[in-house]
Amino acid sequence: MDGFDRVLCVHAHPDDESLWTGGTLARFAEQNVNTRVLTCTDGHLADAERLPHRIDELREALRILAAGEPRVLAPGADWANELTREIRSYRPNLVITYDAFGIYGHPDHIGTHRATLAAIEASAHTQIEPGSPWAIDELWLATLTERPDITIDVHPWLDTKWKAVRAHTSEFERGARINAFLDVAVRNEVLGTERFQQRHMHHSPELCCCSFY
Ligand SMILES: [Zn+2]
Repeated sequence: MDGFDRVLCVHAHPDDESLWTGGTLARFAEQNVNTRVLTCTDGHLADAERLPHRIDELREALRILAAGEPRVLAPGADWANELTREIRSYRPNLVITYDAFGIYGHPDHIGTHRATLAAIEASAHTQIEPGSPWAIDELWLATLTERPDITIDVHPWLDTKWKAVRAHTSEFERGARINAFLDVAVRNEVLGTERFQQRHMHHSPELCCCSFY
């Protein structure tokens, strides 16, 4: 986990950053790595009344995780285009998102995975505008599969992670599945470890042989 200057986490919903990557974000912050979270949806498009609350909750969670200000895509935005813009302006060494199954099959998570992979490729391509090409070094895909490449024991940061999860008050209030984590044993078991598939990205924006893959 060493050697990264900037880490971008791409998630679908407010609360996923804390649930699936909160310990990793807290650990990076402790190492003075700059971290940022981009959230593709506001969580519940049908419930406009809750929207300001969810963004405020996300802001508080990110404050706890020292991961900057909320960045939430507008409804109807082209996720891959917006992510390409974000990658080129932030220039992360590591991007983290969900695995191809969206961790547990959620369609927004799967859509986020696909948009992120498309954006990583587009960002590195010299002929795509606007902005200067940027190639990331590594991609981590959050997963619950049996054989992850990276397993991070986040128990040392579990208090911080849990505070960030709890910042999403309205999710608990609406009786979402997140309430299962109020049980300490479940919390330790599920949230105490973060698992990722690791992909090394070998392309370089300087070498425009990119048309061969
Ligand atoms: Zn989600």
